[in-house]
Amino acid sequence: MKKIFNSFLFLSLTALSINAQELKLIGKAEPGGVLIGTGKNISSAYLNDTKLMVDKNGIFILGFDRDAAGAQYLKVEFENGEIETKKILLPKRKYVIQKLTIAEKYVNPPQEELERIEIESKKMNEARSQVGKIDSALFSIGFIKPAAGRISSVFGSQRILNGIPKSPHNGIDIAAPEGTAVLAASDGVVIIAGEDFYYNGNFILIDHGQGLSSIYLHLSKLNTKTGDLVKKGQKIGEVGSTGRSTAPHLHWGVQWYGNRIDPMSLLNISF
Ligand SMILES: [Zn+2]
Repeated sequence: MKKIFNSFLFLSLTALSINAQELKLIGKAEPGGVLIGTGKNISSAYLNDTKLMVDKNGIFILGFDRDAAGAQYLKVEFENGEIETKKILLPKRKYVIQKLTIAEKYVNPPQEELERIEIESKKMNEARSQVGKIDSALFSIGFIKPAAGRISSVFGSQRILNGIPKSPHNGIDIAAPEGTAVLAASDGVVIIAGEDFYYNGNFILIDHGQGLSSIYLHLSKLNTKTGDLVKKGQKIGEVGSTGRSTAPHLHWGVQWYGNRIDPMSLLNISF
């Protein structure tokens, strides 16, 4: 009798470990990084206390803010009741300090622009609050660099504008001539195609599903409008220097919900 019990126990453990092995994570666990998970028969997944969206193919994404630190816990529950918990220890990441000299009006906007800036800021918050309603992992088609050109400014750098410390650089800058095609980095839905904002200029914000969004600033031309479905590689606009910009370039920013993500972390994932 004892022998039968033992072999039953052995079989159960084997089944458990096979199921657990089907949970895969790709990407780099670091501040500003994302991880994409896949698994079979997942019933729910959590990063710390935050419930993650898991699409019908068992794909989910999670990301770590620029300033995220320490241990993070991913908990995945399977339909058979099994639970797998992974401790993710984020390494420290150093950011460069970048001193820039720009037109004074962009460091301290003139009084007459404050009302406009506040209206635009409300529109941005409203647009960002629309992100995170798509369960599908539209991004699972993969990512491309949205414009050809040299990366002139990296993610996360602490910016000092005309001697005044400002918020960090929440994206990468790609230097390119005006008119260079700007492409959607992945599949998604255009949440807002904004025109002539004080800081952003003409810009596009795309929702790639499960809280992942990308933004494209300072465009000279918009080729898409709010609500459009876009495919990876589709032309959405052209490089320009509108808004707070000193020369033609594309500012490409990525967020996972409110977390500031390094766009390079998307390009480094091999699907
Ligand atoms: Zn930038």
